[in-house]
Amino acid sequence: MNILCVGAGLSGAVIGRHLAEAGHAVTVVDSRDHAGGNCHTERDAETGVMVHVYGPHIFHTDDAEVWEYVNRFEAFKPYKNRVKSTTRGLSGEQEVFSLPVNLHTINQFFRKTMRPEEAHDFIVNEQADTTIEDPQTFEEQAMRFVGRDLYEAFFKGYTVKQWGMHPSELPASILKRLPVRFNYDDNYFFHQFQGMPENGYTAMIEKILDHPGISVRLGTVFERSQAAEYDHVFYSGPLDGYFGYELGRLGYRTLDFERFTHQGDYQGCAVMNYGEEAVPYTRITEHKHFAPWESHEGSVCYREFSRLAEPGDIPYYPIRQVKEKELLAAYVKLAEETRGVTFTGRLATYRYLDMDVTIREALDAARGFLDCQQAGKAAPAFFAAPL
Ligand code: UDP
Repeated sequence: MNILCVGAGLSGAVIGRHLAEAGHAVTVVDSRDHAGGNCHTERDAETGVMVHVYGPHIFHTDDAEVWEYVNRFEAFKPYKNRVKSTTRGLSGEQEVFSLPVNLHTINQFFRKTMRPEEAHDFIVNEQADTTIEDPQTFEEQAMRFVGRDLYEAFFKGYTVKQWGMHPSELPASILKRLPVRFNYDDNYFFHQFQGMPENGYTAMIEKILDHPGISVRLGTVFERSQAAEYDHVFYSGPLDGYFGYELGRLGYRTLDFERFTHQGDYQGCAVMNYGEEAVPYTRITEHKHFAPWESHEGSVCYREFSRLAEPGDIPYYPIRQVKEKELLAAYVKLAEETRGVTFTGRLATYRYLDMDVTIREALDAARGFLDCQQAGKAAPAFFAAPL
């Protein structure tokens, strides 16, 4: 069969590879002039630093098959994400704290020397609002589990900046991404496998795409009319974009990166969050610290600002409020009425997906497609439901 994958990010590359290995002829197109989607990495010519061009990506997973998959294409170096936050403590002065909220954060914040059980009792009995039984919103979730002081220092301002909305308007699920620990473990993720690709994500994705059955066309804008030239299309661009935004635009937050360079070590860590609303950016990332096995004199940093995406901006975080979910349902209906196209990945399913989940879903979609083919059935519009 002739297969078209629209998008040379993780989703398109993994599906393309799987189908090429199964003997299909695969074409992968991407409007950008590089592969890798938003995971794209590029070595800065001046400093030699590997830059995460569209913002930082840290690979973490509990999925052994996905971990094995990425390691097949690129050597992964050990990397633990240790995030700091600059915010105002109880004294009203700015201080640097450890994230995610852990025993060090709690002891520093409250000027105490509690052991794990003492800290747990202190948060539960003196901080948390345990009258909230079933937290629905981000704010309720934070008040229920850490209480007002920590919520206001670390989550409220950051979240207003990141989402442009008050935490009482956001779902609890966003905060559930972040753990609270009553020990000194400051690893941002609790997944079993974590690491960074030695030569960056783009090198890895280029290797996934490097197969005699795959032809890659970069700088190539996909037009819907081209779908007819192929037996099947896997589309990983924006779902509303596929339909020419005919029903309206799905809301996204976009990011602006203010890039600057520095001689030496600018902040001493890869990610410094800014919890206060008064600081206009959410965080500063210093890219050389994402590759601690390398050494560079110069440094490349990004100051990160979040705002509502306008037409033409790069979509990053799907907003997924009630209004967006209604529009999404209407687009899902259109997609389901479209023959010969499967919608995959972050943008085409309008979900915030970590890289490992994107790969898992891409493998499942490719396998699902082959099963359908064997059974003589048409492949569905979605293998992973967007709603
Ligand atoms: N968050 C916060 N303060 C922080 C870091 C995160 O309030 O210092 C909130 C914020 O709303 C964010 C969510 O927790 O959107 C999830 O954080 P994560 O670090 O997973 O965000 P991502 O890396 O996906 O942008």
